[in-house]
Amino acid sequence: MARVDTKTRKKAEWLLRRAEGALLSDAVLAAEGAHLAPADAESRLGELVRERPELGLADRLEALARARGEVTRSKEYAERYGVAGVRRFLVRGGITIYLLPVETFPHHINNVYLILEPGHALLFDVGSGSDSSRRDLALGFAVVRDVFGEDARFEAIDTAIVSHAHIDHFGGVSDLKVRTAARLCVHELDARVISGFEERVVIATKDVEVFLRRAGVAEDERRKMIALYSASRTFFKSVEVDRALRDGDLVGGGHRVIHVPGHCPGQICLLVGDVLLTSDHVLARITPHQFPQAITPFGGLEHYFHSLAKVRKLDLVNLALGGHEEPIADLRSRVDEIAAFHRERLLKVREICDAPRSIADVCSRLFGPQEGYGTLLAIEEAGAHVEYLHALGKLRIANLDEVARSDDPVILYERR
Ligand SMILES: [Zn+2]
Ligand SMILES: [Zn+2]
Repeated sequence: MARVDTKTRKKAEWLLRRAEGALLSDAVLAAEGAHLAPADAESRLGELVRERPELGLADRLEALARARGEVTRSKEYAERYGVAGVRRFLVRGGITIYLLPVETFPHHINNVYLILEPGHALLFDVGSGSDSSRRDLALGFAVVRDVFGEDARFEAIDTAIVSHAHIDHFGGVSDLKVRTAARLCVHELDARVISGFEERVVIATKDVEVFLRRAGVAEDERRKMIALYSASRTFFKSVEVDRALRDGDLVGGGHRVIHVPGHCPGQICLLVGDVLLTSDHVLARITPHQFPQAITPFGGLEHYFHSLAKVRKLDLVNLALGGHEEPIADLRSRVDEIAAFHRERLLKVREICDAPRSIADVCSRLFGPQEGYGTLLAIEEAGAHVEYLHALGKLRIANLDEVARSDDPVILYERR
């Protein structure tokens, strides 16, 4: 599907997931998959594929049409492509991993992983807790039972691991606490975000505000960004964490926790046999978002580069499964691409600072005009790169006297 714009590709993926609903039994379709409307999705997908042959989906549509008629073919299709986006991965030692795609926020899909093994049913990430997130989790479990024949129920989860404290990955823990007896496990650096959420929101919002002032974001823009930052966090109430994880800990039947700070302070990967669940540390297409340590310690590019090297060194990883997007067949190459991308961006930021620039200047030169939550993500990303270059002594502060005199200075950076 190369050379297809992201929007079209996402639309095609979404329609495919819905069209695959045709492989579900009528009972499941009626109970959990009514929103899929597979026939409608299939005809829209057909139109899209005719208009945009470069999507390369004609074969898959044909396979889907054939699969509908026959049990063996539908099993083959399910094994290869999944059903309603749910995919199965077999790991040695009798472990099965299911990828459950969940729409956590409008048009934002997270991959929740269900790990089934003798004696344990684990969930790696839990969705956002939004209506669509709950709907898709229920559908995912139904597909695992109906198509793949597993005895899997959400209520029977015994261990839930939150990969990092971003709301699209952990918001569903409230549901989890109500409906299951699962032990909730989170890395110790992110546990307090979930167990002391009210405090975290207040403090983080203050730190973001200070960062935005110093970055030189104009006041009205800043107010909008702060509103966005806190608004996305009003619907969650603190939940007790049962186990604070550390690097090297084992969960479930002996799966190793790998602490990879950078994208988030308590970001972890989980090694399940020869499969690495990478969450937002490594993704197939987008480079995971970076923020400056000025907002939260244990983030920033220095940590991130270290954490990339850490997973690159792992032996025997044959497949990586991210918190979003598709599986990654070659983890090392993807790690190298992401690291190269950031090195390139660092060079670019340094070039931009050929004259004194605020982080807001750097941001607009890097990303151009942004909208909505994108404004906040862009300024954080720019801030992470400027901060790293400054820490390395490759940028200096150009208005030091002014910074010394003022209470709330906009800091200007210049290349050394
Ligand atoms: Zn994240
Ligand atoms: Zn994420």
